[in-house]
Amino acid sequence: MNKNDSLKNAIAILQELVSFDTTSRESNLAIIEHIQSYLDNLGIDSRLTHDETGTKANLWATIGPDIAGGVVLSGHLDVVPVDGQQWSQDPFSMWQQDGSLYGRGVVDMKGYIAVCLALVPLLLTKKLLLPIHFAFTYDEEVGCVGVHELLKDIVDNLQKPRAVIVGEPTSMKIIGGHKGSRSFRTIFKGVPAHSSDPRLGVNSIMASARLINFLESLQQELADSADSSCPFDPPYTTIDLGMINGGTANNIIPEYTTVEWGFRLIPEDNADQLQKRVTDFIDNEIVPHLRKQSPHANVSTEITNRMIGLTPDDKSPAEQLIRHLTGLNNSDVVSFGTEAGAFQHAGIPAVVFGPGSITQAHQPDEFIEIEQLGQCIEFVYKLADWAETKDALELLSAD
Ligand SMILES: [Zn+2]
Repeated sequence: MNKNDSLKNAIAILQELVSFDTTSRESNLAIIEHIQSYLDNLGIDSRLTHDETGTKANLWATIGPDIAGGVVLSGHLDVVPVDGQQWSQDPFSMWQQDGSLYGRGVVDMKGYIAVCLALVPLLLTKKLLLPIHFAFTYDEEVGCVGVHELLKDIVDNLQKPRAVIVGEPTSMKIIGGHKGSRSFRTIFKGVPAHSSDPRLGVNSIMASARLINFLESLQQELADSADSSCPFDPPYTTIDLGMINGGTANNIIPEYTTVEWGFRLIPEDNADQLQKRVTDFIDNEIVPHLRKQSPHANVSTEITNRMIGLTPDDKSPAEQLIRHLTGLNNSDVVSFGTEAGAFQHAGIPAVVFGPGSITQAHQPDEFIEIEQLGQCIEFVYKLADWAETKDALELLSAD
């Protein structure tokens, strides 16, 4: 086998992976079975962890010795919806044009997974001193949900790996850090009445405006206290305020208003503390004012999503591994979230490093340049050679 054959294999496998509609709302069991039988034919066992409905699964597989340490190649199997997007061809039937491959998920991130799978036969020819694991997850695109089941299984039942490479598209550059996030839904319950007499009702839209003003001043405070050496752009925690929904007609005092808001956090900021700042304001400033008007008025807040940030650590074995194999000598941070933060939080150092450009992710006519897949194959070849050496043992043995 040579790199050209491996690239051809990867493209053929990618074609198959794209043909499964793994939009996050769908079951992913068909693609899981497909990958499982591919690995099974090569003599590799895989281990599944399911969500509570049993319709989605993560897949874990190990090549090489069954010991602690080693590296995980990790990617999510789900893709974002194509609804409402203008595609020039069927998004689930991959096509090739001008040196690129097109289809939903080719860059985010089935291309990376196809490379991993295509190189199993190569890895099997090596005398690996450390394990190389695959971790393929469900429901990443809806807030890194699936990876937590997988991590629980690793921590409870498996030998702990030493590094993770999350192959999200970074154009084969090292991403050592990203912001975390936490999202909320706050529901203001007022009292409806005819707008001709505001004294008879409680206006939920007016109440929500007080939260919005508070978020605006909190955003200003966070920006004003930014540390200019912070590598993120912008260099402070930002506030999302993306959706508001309230009222039914201009002549009715609105009973319900829903506000969707959240934080995108730099690693230094504490999500719990910031959340408390906001909920304290709601409890101490907004609710008492509403209750004075009516005991039936209320405000409730729930967390709708949380994503753990990735704290940059250029000395981590994950980053050192990639620097060593690629010769890259710097890493960057990004503002989009990945599963790398969850791995790091569980005590497994992680970086984001994968083929293709993030600007293509989630787009109609999503594509990946074949040259990027080639670079990724080149990288896994180096990793395979290196995993036979004493150097690998030194860097990636169990801590
Ligand atoms: Zn992704």
